[in-house]
Amino acid sequence: MNLIVVSNRLPFVFSRDAEGAWRLEPGSGGLVTALRPVLRDRGGRWIGWTGVTEEELPDATPLLAGSERRFGYTLIPVGLSSAERDGFYYGFSNEIVWPLFHDLTPSRFDPSYWAVYESVNQKFADVTAQNAGRDDFIWVHDYHLIRLGGALRERGLQNRIAFFLHIPFPPLDIFLKLPWRFQVMRSLLQYDLIGFQTVRDRRNFAQCLRLLFRDAEITGKGAVWTVFGEGRHARVGSFPISIDVQEFERRVSEAGVLEKTQSLRRHEAGRKIILGIDRLDYTKGIPQKLEAFRTLLTRYPELRGRVTLFQIVVPSREDIPRYRDHKVSLERLVGEINGRFTTSGWVPIHYIYRSLEGVRLPAYYRAADIAFVTPLKDGMNLVAKEYCASRVDEDGVLVLSEFAGAAAQLQKGAFLVNPFDEHGVADTLYRAVGLPAEERRSRMRKLRRAVREYDIYRWLDTFLAAAISKELADFPRVEDYLPESAAQ
Ligand code: UDP
Repeated sequence: MNLIVVSNRLPFVFSRDAEGAWRLEPGSGGLVTALRPVLRDRGGRWIGWTGVTEEELPDATPLLAGSERRFGYTLIPVGLSSAERDGFYYGFSNEIVWPLFHDLTPSRFDPSYWAVYESVNQKFADVTAQNAGRDDFIWVHDYHLIRLGGALRERGLQNRIAFFLHIPFPPLDIFLKLPWRFQVMRSLLQYDLIGFQTVRDRRNFAQCLRLLFRDAEITGKGAVWTVFGEGRHARVGSFPISIDVQEFERRVSEAGVLEKTQSLRRHEAGRKIILGIDRLDYTKGIPQKLEAFRTLLTRYPELRGRVTLFQIVVPSREDIPRYRDHKVSLERLVGEINGRFTTSGWVPIHYIYRSLEGVRLPAYYRAADIAFVTPLKDGMNLVAKEYCASRVDEDGVLVLSEFAGAAAQLQKGAFLVNPFDEHGVADTLYRAVGLPAEERRSRMRKLRRAVREYDIYRWLDTFLAAAISKELADFPRVEDYLPESAAQ
């Protein structure tokens, strides 16, 4: 049995050098790191889009030739034209599914987007079917490829096929708005295992299933349930994705990182550093976070000059108008707050709009007294976990949105907040700023324990076990890896 991973993007970045020649660089990130050894051991294949259009790069196959020898597994490209990219990636995936699954209403349910989404999923299905042996296990990732399972079954594939949704699954009333709700649910039921980030997402899915299909049945308890609908049985589980904890622990102890940490701290001597790191996205709650910070400075004037917010915003999806508008409104808000509170020698918000390279990301994690992570809704939020993994000194406070998937596992050590409650968030920040060292340590220990117990390798093992094991009784109980209250 070989493992075939299918995701929207291949785990490589394609770019052109000064002479115009194409280069590819391996992507980083926990998912790739964790999957690499499994793919290597299993003679695996990874199927995905290159991230560039066919107009720019008509055929990526020659660039990927010999990938098995070079990287340990085979890379198989799916080519997309710019029209396909626009309808499938920007359109249906990121203007419809992304907002809807994060509890927001898309500005329009453009039917042409669905048509392109469908045809691109069929294209992925052709490539996958051509490359899958009878016994291969196919693992499909994320919201771009929900229809792929159905498209593969339509081609007669009987393989074991699993799906993992990296983003949340919305509550019933929100999901019902989707004009293609039946197609989406039917496609999900074609997978043998459907994995969600949290028990909340799985519960939302189960409620939608019960309402939309009269014959739906849900059985089981604990980490993996069995569902029946549309004549098919599928397993449904929650598997909170995580990070390579040891890798973060190793990196933050490097000399270069420590040097940069000290320089950040020296610059803010006598002040508490509050850190926000978010991709440019309206789901991350950055304006609400800035408003809460403004409220903090207004309600607690004694903190002026004593706290600095470093807000890093990583550029993302700037081709979508909603993202461009969001960026402009963030910049205006930062300007307003800084304009009002800046004094000689103190700027309250350091706004950084770029990604952090090299030692900078781990150094920010180590330098920050408080990580301020307040998405309005988030599948998991790895920044919260990376902050805890980086605090090998067992110091630091995590202020975390209760609507981040990570809240289920980190609730014991973090300060959980409702990101819509500006005053509540400001008051919690105030408490975090003044938290005694002993309580910081005891909370950080709990956080670190939670993050270490269920790292990316454990996530991978539990998902594969749920997909492959014959007996669900073999499967670890949900309480083995989630706090009790989150296991309901
Ligand atoms: N990150 C990055 N460059 C940066 C800052 C952060 O690549 O300059 C990474 C960060 O380490 C984390 C990821 O981006 O692994 C963000 O993941 P998260 O789950 O928090 O949010 P997402 O962007 O996936 O919605």
